[in-house]
Amino acid sequence: MNLILLLPQDFINPTEVNLTGRRLQHVRSVHRAQVGDTLRVGALNGLLGQGVVTQVNDEHLTMAVTLSTPPPAKLALTLVLALPRPKVLNRVLAAATALGVAHITLLNSFRVEKGYWTNPRLGADNLLLQRLLGLEQAQDTGMPSVDLQRRFKPFVEDELGTRSAGTLRLVAHPEGAGPCPRAVTTPVTLVVGPEGGFIPFEVELLQKVGFAPVSLGPRILRVETAVATLVGRLF
Ligand code: SAM
Repeated sequence: MNLILLLPQDFINPTEVNLTGRRLQHVRSVHRAQVGDTLRVGALNGLLGQGVVTQVNDEHLTMAVTLSTPPPAKLALTLVLALPRPKVLNRVLAAATALGVAHITLLNSFRVEKGYWTNPRLGADNLLLQRLLGLEQAQDTGMPSVDLQRRFKPFVEDELGTRSAGTLRLVAHPEGAGPCPRAVTTPVTLVVGPEGGFIPFEVELLQKVGFAPVSLGPRILRVETAVATLVGRLF
């Protein structure tokens, strides 16, 4: 935790916060915080700054906070990700958040197992927690939005074209695609496939609405590695 992320409900008043639960445990056990110590803090979707510990015990920690620095800018990137298996989902969500992705769509596709959609890790609490972990890692406060799309064809045919208007549309696909562009200056909508890859019909449908297949070369990468590599190339 490189940043103590402050949620609206933590604020007792505009310059004082009260922490409990996971962040209290972390600050006590890892930072070994004492009264008078200064910690790096940031208000969710707000400014970064410092907190001076004013009280700490088993139940709670209070800090006087000064918030003055804007967080890093989000990347002009929407990531449309075929829903990975739950463990991988956690890692990819946290990593995509840490990398600065602005919006994440989790999409069904032929090779996404149906059971993934009913896994508790897809619940709102876990989706929030993984993004909080990503923000804490990256010292960022800007929470990316997430939406779930359970129907591939209607979403791609009826919504994705409009949503991605004015952006560079790319689908990461190892087979028969051109190289992924580097250091682009336009906003990007990037589609990444499931662990088994997209089927030809899905790639064709994406192409119909303007998505160009791009490759990272002949090595087949895990989803989380592919996402990090694609973001690193594009921005
Ligand atoms: N056997 C699958 C295939 O050939 O598509 C492998 C899928 S890979 C584990 C999961 C996703 O990561 C792919 O659908 C693609 O979006 C992305 N990916 C992995 N390696 C890639 C590469 N070398 N080039 C482009 N995308 C890649």
